[in-house]
Amino acid sequence: MTINSGKESDFEKLENIAIIGNGGRENALGWAIQKSDHVKNIFIIPGNGGSNNFNKCQRIDLDYSDTEKLIDKLIELNINFIIIGPEIPLANGLADILREKDFCVFGPGSDGAQLESSKSWAKNFMKAGNIPTADFWKVSSIEDALRIIKQSNDSLVVKADGLASGKGVFIPEDRNETLEITKQILNGKFGKAGNIVVLEERLKGPEVSVFALCDGKNYVVLPTAQDHKRLEEGDRGLNTGGMGAYSPTPLISKNDLKNICEKIIDPTINELIKKNIDYRGVLYFGLMITDSGAKVIEYNCRFGDPECQTMMPLMDKHFVNLIYKCATGNLDGTEQDITNNMVSGCVIATSNGYPQDYEVGYPILLENIKDKNLQIFHSGTSINESGELVTNGGRVLSIVCQDKDFDSAFKKAYEYLNGVDFKGIFYRKDIGHQVRENYKGEKN
Ligand code: AMP
Repeated sequence: MTINSGKESDFEKLENIAIIGNGGRENALGWAIQKSDHVKNIFIIPGNGGSNNFNKCQRIDLDYSDTEKLIDKLIELNINFIIIGPEIPLANGLADILREKDFCVFGPGSDGAQLESSKSWAKNFMKAGNIPTADFWKVSSIEDALRIIKQSNDSLVVKADGLASGKGVFIPEDRNETLEITKQILNGKFGKAGNIVVLEERLKGPEVSVFALCDGKNYVVLPTAQDHKRLEEGDRGLNTGGMGAYSPTPLISKNDLKNICEKIIDPTINELIKKNIDYRGVLYFGLMITDSGAKVIEYNCRFGDPECQTMMPLMDKHFVNLIYKCATGNLDGTEQDITNNMVSGCVIATSNGYPQDYEVGYPILLENIKDKNLQIFHSGTSINESGELVTNGGRVLSIVCQDKDFDSAFKKAYEYLNGVDFKGIFYRKDIGHQVRENYKGEKN
């Protein structure tokens, strides 16, 4: 962790902060940031049913894609620092627009966000920077795809080039399926996001998430995490936005992380600098630990959800100083650890039917929290006209617990979940199975 612990006056500008986004990630960022003595008000735009739950935090129900209205509101609220949570506004250049108006922003411009918004751009970037990743072929016609698929030995991974809400990646069983899904994407399954398809060598190994906070030149690494993308226990079923996570992951030792920094993170930052991209925000590395070392599966230009909810309780009150230093281009190598020594586990409660069709508007029953190491972060929730908390999305709540070990943390999370109720509530019982000594269920 790098943070200048010296000049506290640097952080006086942190009085009024805006967080853009409406998910569990933004809820968790608000919770982590309110711990700072420098911070007086946090406005979550547009937020959700849980945005007003934490000290100093309040929801502003405003459509941030209307940038004129957003800017007027930010001026009215006397905002000094803005954190952009989701990928779509980042890809659409919201950070650039706000910086042009002299706001201090945490989040890359649209140039840096291409690492996430175009898979083919990211693959070419990795190739240019000699960053380990799967071999790939970029195709824009069915004829090209057929040629590549015919000459490949194994089935390939098929990816829509653009943003597809995490649904644009397919792992087919055989060549026929590979061709079929490629055709569907090129024929408009994801609209423009599928004008180009990336066909990729299929890698094998466990996946881990690594996050670097960047100031354009320097970076610091946050605790590692492991997400659970599949809907069902035993890591089976449909791909989701994430059903739970734990942090840090023992899959990566200190030495592994050093190697990852040298072989992956340093070359990524160098390549960004080479391309004149002043990347000020979080850079997510989705890695696969293969027999021949860690390889990049994907970059994200923002905090992962639910990894963010899982990691935030491991940060102390200086977290906001650190991201402010990134936003102002001022990481300076003065090391100070801002993480505690606990581990953290997160379980997501979803609406029945997610990630496909589901219904919303059901009242949510929650017990009061009695433990300072337990957090409820809201994702798909809202307050209805009668003032009741109701479901309003596929992923509804993140239940997050910290303790000395993962068994104790997950025990507490699941005990609390027993008392949570809404119609059709669903959650996986095996989150963190990789690290729970006492987990007796089905392991993958
Ligand atoms: P992405 O959106 O690129 O992270 O892909 C979603 C998921 O697909 C990843 O988390 C992996 O589980 C899987 N995946 C993506 N690319 C590959 C690959 N080249 N080899 C094996 N699995 C992959």
